Amino acid sequence: SVPLGYFGGIGGASRHGILVKGANYLEALTDVRTVIFDKTGTLTQGVFEVNKIEAVNGYTEDQLLEIAATAEAHSSHPIAKSIRKKLAKEISQDLIESYEEIGGKGIRTVISGKSVLAGKKDLLLNNSVIVPDQEIREAGTLVYISVDGEYAGYLMISDREKEGAKESVAELNKAGITTVMLTGDHETVAKTVSEKLGVKEYHADLLPEDKVTWLEKYLEKEKGNGKVVFVGDGINDAPVLTRADIGVAMGGLGSDAAIEAADVVLMEDQPSKLLDAMDIARFTKKIIW
Ligand code: ADP
Ligand code: MG
Repeated sequence: SVPLGYFGGIGGASRHGILVKGANYLEALTDVRTVIFDKTGTLTQGVFEVNKIEAVNGYTEDQLLEIAATAEAHSSHPIAKSIRKKLAKEISQDLIESYEEIGGKGIRTVISGKSVLAGKKDLLLNNSVIVPDQEIREAGTLVYISVDGEYAGYLMISDREKEGAKESVAELNKAGITTVMLTGDHETVAKTVSEKLGVKEYHADLLPEDKVTWLEKYLEKEKGNGKVVFVGDGINDAPVLTRADIGVAMGGLGSDAAIEAADVVLMEDQPSKLLDAMDIARFTKKIIW
């Protein structure tokens, strides 16, 4: 059983905007071996901006943007929000005849009788859309669009690292904790972000279920050594939050599902809050024994 003193630690943590859902999690936070971060919305701001539109096959940039924004009308993904923001006008909801969000890939929808795909290149390729091979140098997330099976162009979207993310990763590295980033985003973006932030290991192009597989590998590796933490915003990663020894959700951007699934909720979406939580846990342990 968990020493009573940890219950006091929970109160202390809550005064720092850290909600710990049980004394056992506070105790576990004193014994962390690996911290796995989700990328979008966790290490990066998750506030994307559309900074390039490439329209082909007779579409204008404005048309492509409008198609993309309509396809993304119902998605709460940060990418979707940035596309709607760029359009900056009302989307005609009654044009949307069907809608399906494919977790970690994008959107399949029917708009005014035309079937539209918006998302990763894979999503289009797997639906027999021919996407031209092109070398794209800038590091951004690409949202590819097709209309009735024909490629129509892409939008390039960029995100920025969170303030303090680099320092938090450095502190974890210094403490000898393994830092890892998991992302559904593509290799180029993952490599750039992890190098910029000093994250030791990363795995890119993951589907939500691949994230669970990776988490399980780290759990296996640390078995008997210590705890594995997963930190995410919960968009597409509630299953990993549940499976980790300690699932930590960013409470601000995060979805209700994430806050439900998490063991620890950070009210401010800052990676440094995880270090605060670990400090409070250590301090609590010290005054108990
Ligand atoms: P991360 O692991 O970085 O948090 P997600 O798992 O949420 O990312 O998404 C992985 C990738 O799937 C995104 O980088 C994007 O390419 C694509 N994607 C996911 N949702 C959408 C969407 N609503 N619209 C377009 N693309 C999307
Ligand atoms: Mg995410």
